[in-house]
Amino acid sequence: MTEAMHQVLIVEDEPAIRNVLKVLLEAERYRVIEADTAMRAEIESRSHKPDLLLLDLGLPDGDGLAIIRRVRAWSPVPIIVLSARAQEEQKIAALDAGADDYVTKPFSAAELLARVRAALRRNVRGAEQTGVLALGPVQIDLEKRLAHGTDGEIHLTPLEYRVLESLARHLGAIVTQQQLIREVWGPERLGDTRGLRVCIMNLRGKVEPDPRKPRYLLTEAGLGYRLRAEESGPP
Ligand code: CA
Repeated sequence: MTEAMHQVLIVEDEPAIRNVLKVLLEAERYRVIEADTAMRAEIESRSHKPDLLLLDLGLPDGDGLAIIRRVRAWSPVPIIVLSARAQEEQKIAALDAGADDYVTKPFSAAELLARVRAALRRNVRGAEQTGVLALGPVQIDLEKRLAHGTDGEIHLTPLEYRVLESLARHLGAIVTQQQLIREVWGPERLGDTRGLRVCIMNLRGKVEPDPRKPRYLLTEAGLGYRLRAEESGPP
């Protein structure tokens, strides 16, 4: 497995949860580093350069959000936030600060490990941008801006391509509404979610087999959207 020996930094102040995470990850042959405070998290991430951060937002000596911002200033390392239920605002703030994904406590082992694998895969692929998205039978070449499905060519507007590009850059991860608006429409349109909702609705009409039950352009209620797709190289 390619993820063998990846190094994961667990930042969590509750020893019981930290231990569960450590046991889970070590069973999958990840190397684990631990930190129980915000200060330790920064020291460990600078000295060990982990491949992934699992970050609890509520730490005794500081805010997990501040850690995300500080780490993001110098590193693109994937960050998965561990958050308690019903902390929607915190989740959004974490994603906007640069976290890649979140897992809600109490989490299932399978879900957590799947998120970890997905985040590491994205990082390996990095910015290489192979550019072709496969959404089931629909193939979308983001570079050439061509799309086709079983019935031939699909016409997407420039705005629709840009929304897909933005989601594809974070393939499999949540992109918040504000993040999408900032990247596609620009910062002056922040807060105006209507255009985005219409764009997603139109995109679903064009690329989803059943737009009412999306399989690829997924809504993360109250947070944003997630693109689920197989990415393949150019033919
Ligand atoms: Ca905590």
